[in-house]
This record gives sequence, C-alpha cells and structure tokens, in this order.
Amino acid sequence: MFVVKRKELSLRERLFLPEIARALGHSLRAIFKPKITRQYPEEGLPTTEVTRGQPRLVVKEDGAMACVSCGLCEAACPAYAITIDGQETDRFIEREPERFDIDMLRCILCGFCEEACPKDAIFMSDELELADYSREALKYDIEKLKRPKAALQKRIDYVYRINERWRSSSSTS
Ligand code: SF4
Ligand code: SF4
Repeated sequence: MFVVKRKELSLRERLFLPEIARALGHSLRAIFKPKITRQYPEEGLPTTEVTRGQPRLVVKEDGAMACVSCGLCEAACPAYAITIDGQETDRFIEREPERFDIDMLRCILCGFCEEACPKDAIFMSDELELADYSREALKYDIEKLKRPKAALQKRIDYVYRINERWRSSSSTS
C-alpha cells in the first residue's frame, strides 16, 4: 500500500501563528495607509491624456468642423453607434456632416472611430460622465458632440505621439 509521508507540523504551525502574524501585519499596514475613498460625484475622477472618454468632434480654430463626412468612423464603429448624413459645402473642403449622431448608450468607448478618422476630426475626450432621464437624450447630435480643438488638444497630442511611435517602428522594420 502506498503511504503519503506528511511533514510533522510544529505547534507554531498547527496554531497557524505565521499566517495570523502575516494577516495582522497586512491589516496594520492597511490601517495606516492613506485613504483612497473618493467622494464622487463631488470629487471628480482624475483624468489624463490616456483617458478614453466619450468621443467628440473637433471644431477647428476658424470655427469649421474638421469632419468631411467620409463615413469611415461610422463603418469602423463595432457598436453601430454612429449615424452620419453628409452635405456639400462651398468651402475648400467639399463636404461636412449635416447630421452626426452618436448613440452614447451603444458606444463602448473603444476608440475605433478615433483610429479610423483620416482627418483628425474625432477624438476620445476626457468626458466620462453619462447620465440623463431618457434614452433619447443620450443620442448625442452634432451640437452636443462639437468641442473646440483646444479642449481636445491633450488627447490629440497623445494620439499623434503614439502614432509617431508606430510610424518610426514600421519604417525601421
Ligand atoms: S468609441 Fe467605439 S463604440 Fe463609441 S462611437 Fe467610437 S467606434 Fe463607436
Ligand atoms: S469624423 Fe472622421 S472618419 Fe468620421 S466621418 Fe468625419 S472625417 Fe470621416
């Protein structure tokens, strides 16, 4: 018959003293650590350039939208959250959106629209909060989505920077 030979435990081990001491140590350390409870919503969430909040449309310094209504973001959106209708303009760029809706209840903040856009016209903002009283109100139209370029500049710089990294690594390979 095969017998498993077990190690003889000391009294200290049988009383779980090392484990108890370790657990007490963890508790004591946790008691004296700075508290991390956030008093939300009075105390907002910290955001950085990496924060991938809700997508917003860039309004350039001259007041025109950067979007040329090409529809690439609409095609790239895995949640079918974007709806665009384009129209002609008499400005240098020939098209702009007449309608640009994002259903924020469908949006999963994936950032594919930002990646797909060839005109740097849509970026993920640092706006994270989303609450309203009806589903309809959370279908954001073009006016709700517009943001001055300066408000998105931190994110724009970050995206340019990470794209630059890919560009230099593909050119060296
Ligand atoms: S972030 Fe993703 S889900 Fe939201 S609109 Fe853009 S592509 Fe669609
Ligand atoms: S936001 Fe960009 S990808 Fe989307 S329609 Fe406008 S130009 Fe095209």
